[in-house]
Amino acid sequence: MQYHAFVIKYAEIGVKGKNRYIFEDALVGQIKRVLKKCDGSFSISKVAGRIYIAAEDFDFDETVDALKTVFGITGICPAVAIKRDGENFLPDVPGVCRAVIDFVEGVYPDKHRTFKIRCRRVDKSYPMDSMELAAEIGARVLEAFPEMKVDVHNPDILINVEIREQLNIFSEIISGPGGMPIGTAGKAMLLLSGGIDSPVAGYMVAKRGVELEAVYFNAPPYTSEKARQKVVDLAKIIARYTGKIKLHVINFTDIQMYIYEKCPHDELTIIMRRYMMKIADILAARSGCMGLITGESIGQVASQTMQSLMCTGEVVRDMPVYRPLIAFDKQDIVDISVKIDAYETSILPYEDCCTIFVAKHPVTKPRLDVIERHEESLSERIEELVETALSTDEVIEL
Ligand code: ATP
Ligand code: MG
Repeated sequence: MQYHAFVIKYAEIGVKGKNRYIFEDALVGQIKRVLKKCDGSFSISKVAGRIYIAAEDFDFDETVDALKTVFGITGICPAVAIKRDGENFLPDVPGVCRAVIDFVEGVYPDKHRTFKIRCRRVDKSYPMDSMELAAEIGARVLEAFPEMKVDVHNPDILINVEIREQLNIFSEIISGPGGMPIGTAGKAMLLLSGGIDSPVAGYMVAKRGVELEAVYFNAPPYTSEKARQKVVDLAKIIARYTGKIKLHVINFTDIQMYIYEKCPHDELTIIMRRYMMKIADILAARSGCMGLITGESIGQVASQTMQSLMCTGEVVRDMPVYRPLIAFDKQDIVDISVKIDAYETSILPYEDCCTIFVAKHPVTKPRLDVIERHEESLSERIEELVETALSTDEVIEL
């Protein structure tokens, strides 16, 4: 069967009242973005609460895979669409029946199945109402394929026939990612490490329509070029869903060494993390972000106990910190990581700046006042080092 159209279903954005067109336009924009990278020619139209894609010379799997990365889409329905014949006439009733029979013939080689016809008639001038038309089509399909049976309660195949500005016939609904189209919320700065969690955290917030920028704290020569490349690759994977991402790579080595030299080693991770947050906060404010995103989850490691989170989050002055994984178990995070195709990259065994400087017995219940007191020993050079680190900002556009 050669499909040549898709009916795109979206749920949440359908209920946004007067703002609805903003969401629909963003969704159309995102669909255009992903289809640009696919073979074929596509024409996207938005009519009466529906988005249609007419497709020619395209690769079905490639196109569906691309559409599965568009936040806001709940269902992708491969369809046959028949345009109006002249000004006012859709195919007449026998014509619609023939089109549905052709559809069944092409899509379902094995006819030993139950089916149901569901009609929607948006064009009220059509000579039959939905119920009558469904009954008529059902009867004709049974005539054409006597092996088939009608089951109105639990059919194997639900064939949708829509009489709108065109005739749409579709049965299969491929799940989309859901969420809201990118560009309908605002922008946030993802603290992206090479691990499993932060790419998932970025994906989840982006799924609510939030545009992403990302920052990676690099510690050469203690961390390798491969570790950095892994983060670039992860950002690319996220960018499949979000569109362009600016990745800031900050050289964190001198700050890390200075903390190592001056502060108690069991507090290293917490203090390092506080400086990462501080720098991310500054960068984010400069680029118009409205929040930071981390992959933290309560209790996952010493630096993510509630006491630790209190200490690391406390330095952020300009915006909220979003931690979408805060209550997730590791396995649930891994499941999403696999689903978004980040897992294989995330588990590559390259060292990260935190693992190299990590203490044997890091504090699990840091006290903010104690941490702040110990940070005083950094007072001589830390501001200058933060400024220098910010000046190393290398921006990679992905
Ligand atoms: P991840 O799997 O995301 O690396 P993790 O379980 O290894 O997380 P931590 O290393 O404690 O956890 O890091 C907690 C969070 O701090 C990360 O999810 C990430 O948002 C941020 N982070 C840690 N290291 C870096 C880094 N080098 N650059 C940018 N952000 C970082
Ligand atoms: Mg990590």
